Amino acid sequence: MIHLPKKICLSCRNFSLQETTTGLCKVVKGLATYPVKAIEESCDQWRDCGQQYFIRTGWIKGRLAREKGLDGTLGTGIIT
Ligand code: SF4
Repeated sequence: MIHLPKKICLSCRNFSLQETTTGLCKVVKGLATYPVKAIEESCDQWRDCGQQYFIRTGWIKGRLAREKGLDGTLGTGIIT
């Protein structure tokens, strides 16, 4: 089955993840500050970021686990 990513900011090439729920949209170049977006937002300029999506979701899961006092791994180095 072909992987069809959800067209949300978290899976968008123009997105720069900053926190577990937010990041910056870099679609408009040359701004002094990029607009902040929630990870589940979207627009018609969405572009698939490929593998980066899984790296981002792993980072979010690890970060949330650490905030709960867990280390984010199960001794395997794999983020759960
Ligand atoms: S607002 Fe649009 S272009 Fe910007 S990160 Fe989200 S989906 Fe991508």
